[in-house]
Amino acid sequence: MTVRKGTIQLRHPRLDADAVGPFRFGHLANERVVLTHDTGEWHVLDQPDFERLLAGELDAEHPQHAALLDKGFLRDGMDAETIAARFRRKKRWLGMGPHLHVVITTLRCNQSCKYCHASRTDMDRVDTDMSLETAKHVVDTALQSPSPYIAFEFQGGEPTVNMDVIKFVVEYGREKNRYEKKTLDFSLVTNMTYMTEENAEWLLANDVLLCTSLDGPKHVHDWNRPWTGKSGAAYDSVMKWIEYFNRRYVEMGRDPELWHVDALMTTTRKTLDHWREVIDLYVSLGIRNVHLRPLNPFGFIMKTWRVVGYDMDEFLAFYEEALDHIIELNQQGVQLIEGTAAVFLKKILTPDDPNFVDIRSPIGAGTGQVAYNYDGTVFPSDEGRMVDAMGNGLWALGKVDQLSADDIIRHPTVKTMAVASLLDSLPQCSTCWNAPYCGVRPLHNFMMGGDLFGQRPNTPKCKQHMTIARLLFERLDADTDGSVERIFRRWTMERPRETPPQDAGTN
Ligand code: SF4
Repeated sequence: MTVRKGTIQLRHPRLDADAVGPFRFGHLANERVVLTHDTGEWHVLDQPDFERLLAGELDAEHPQHAALLDKGFLRDGMDAETIAARFRRKKRWLGMGPHLHVVITTLRCNQSCKYCHASRTDMDRVDTDMSLETAKHVVDTALQSPSPYIAFEFQGGEPTVNMDVIKFVVEYGREKNRYEKKTLDFSLVTNMTYMTEENAEWLLANDVLLCTSLDGPKHVHDWNRPWTGKSGAAYDSVMKWIEYFNRRYVEMGRDPELWHVDALMTTTRKTLDHWREVIDLYVSLGIRNVHLRPLNPFGFIMKTWRVVGYDMDEFLAFYEEALDHIIELNQQGVQLIEGTAAVFLKKILTPDDPNFVDIRSPIGAGTGQVAYNYDGTVFPSDEGRMVDAMGNGLWALGKVDQLSADDIIRHPTVKTMAVASLLDSLPQCSTCWNAPYCGVRPLHNFMMGGDLFGQRPNTPKCKQHMTIARLLFERLDADTDGSVERIFRRWTMERPRETPPQDAGTN
């Protein structure tokens, strides 16, 4: 008899519930079945062995028995204390408090990108600059977070247009931290087209990490990111400053493996046609991380979607080709990481979780990250700020001078976001094989369907996360000589330089 259970055809649907541990399962290519556990452990079996496992017929002599028992997929002899300890370690960020603090120094920007998520304003709108007084409240509130690690990320608009606030947050933050004794990081997400030598030297001298937007070769970058009110190409400016900073790091005796400009890429329709050129450009510039991300439904993109947008199937076809190209380059000795894959692989291949605020359960909105708008309005995430700029004020938590970190974490909106993103309570996510590695963004659901919870398995984000995880498991399963796993493990290694900037948005 054959019955259907989930995506698997069970030819012998006998289940000995006393023999198996608590696990989820999903279907890979070639009739292979991936078993996953809430601790992040996983194991791939062929269909006959999977059915033997379910029926309680996989005995101690079976070559997979010891591994399945150790990972918690078999009940008889399971070490529940070890499993519980692994689960605690996987979720240890729960209760740590917000570590990522996004500071919108200004909305002013000298570019007018076709997909701008940040709802930029023109350069004469000085009323959208953050004041030093507001910046002081931001630092005071951020340092109240119970997290021992605090990352300030400067975003905009173009954040360097309000360099005074960047300098103030860095200097006042370090001064105040003499008493708080946390680990502090400062990162700047900049379009590199408003940079001056004076500002560059200050950023270098003050160890502010740099991340720029680079969408690919000149014809792609300049098409995506036109420069307003000025002749010349934004691409040339980005190239000039990447070269400048990377040269200066070397002159300062910094290890270029650890100190270099990181880059963010936003995938538009134009990128889909030129993905190989984009990756080859990143390699030629010595950039070690390319993050292949689909467009988000926030900001100006809603008006330009017909020109720059695509559907998730098109994105995922591009992603698979690009991922395999990046793996091949790594096999030839190139060091290039794909960012989304790296987040999933840290969950799949290591006992820890990278605490990436957008892909965790519950989401880190207000509990892992906080965004401070130029006027002091606090949001649980930079996305909340973007949606607010589109006219929906539901996600404004209050003003920074009136909220403590505790008020933010306990805010009803933050609690709502946590409930709406808890995979264990979401229909279909709760039984999905990918849940140990996945995460839901309620604001994304809201923008796509007008509902925080959404019909999750029908959403493009679900398809994206499911497909990326499946691709990674299939590449690991087909890896007969271990070369792919070695590359993937390298992608999971933490860098000794403090945590690199998280891409809470684009600039
Ligand atoms: S969002 Fe989709 S892939 Fe992620 S856990 Fe839910 S059902 Fe699974």
